[in-house]
Amino acid sequence: MLNIALDGPAGAGKSTVAKALSAKLNVLYLDTGAMYRACALYAQKMGVAVKDEPAVTELLKTLPLSVRYENGKQVTLLGEEDVSEAIRRPEISMMASDISALVPVRQKLVEMQREIAQSMDCVLDGREIGTFVLPNCKNKFFITAAAEERAKRRYEELIARGYEADYNAVLSEIKQRDENDKNRTFAPLRQAEDAIVVDTTSLTIEQVIDTVISLIQK
Ligand code: C5P
Repeated sequence: MLNIALDGPAGAGKSTVAKALSAKLNVLYLDTGAMYRACALYAQKMGVAVKDEPAVTELLKTLPLSVRYENGKQVTLLGEEDVSEAIRRPEISMMASDISALVPVRQKLVEMQREIAQSMDCVLDGREIGTFVLPNCKNKFFITAAAEERAKRRYEELIARGYEADYNAVLSEIKQRDENDKNRTFAPLRQAEDAIVVDTTSLTIEQVIDTVISLIQK
């Protein structure tokens, strides 16, 4: 199977790159962040606090999460309900970061991600795909950018999608999520030793995509 691992902090451009790669290389895009987000949304729906490890562990037994592909696009489901839009709500971002720090949550979702990656050619984006989910993957990239640039992109994306947003609040949330993701003890955000680093701070999206594709084809 062709697997491409894209890791890096929130807002670095991973999902944009992943979507473009998926279209250009005709492989599917597995958005692992969407799975953590759906898990957080499920906890919210069930009235369980995302930091309450025993309660979340119990909840995992009934987590009705699945992903499927429609016209090449990932649809994230809780039971029969398509939650692909609902998981993008701004308040879900921080909840996803909190719930993803719990070991039982990671174990469950990583198992699903490995099964999916074994069954189809795909590009995966996340935080620890290259270090933990698929350590033997041959194509690993660490996509990063300055926090201020990432906050600017996230802010513009929120405004474009019709949400109210405040740049400084977005910046502090991005920094907080970076800290959470880097400092959790189990499978933290980390660059794999064999990953190629792409700093997107001053690159256009087209430049990033061309860089990554030419490196994969080498
Ligand atoms: O990438 P996205 O912003 O959608 O991810 C939401 C949260 O899920 C991240 O802040 C991160 O804490 C968590 N996550 C993770 N491991 C992944 C993907 C996402 O811990 N592979």
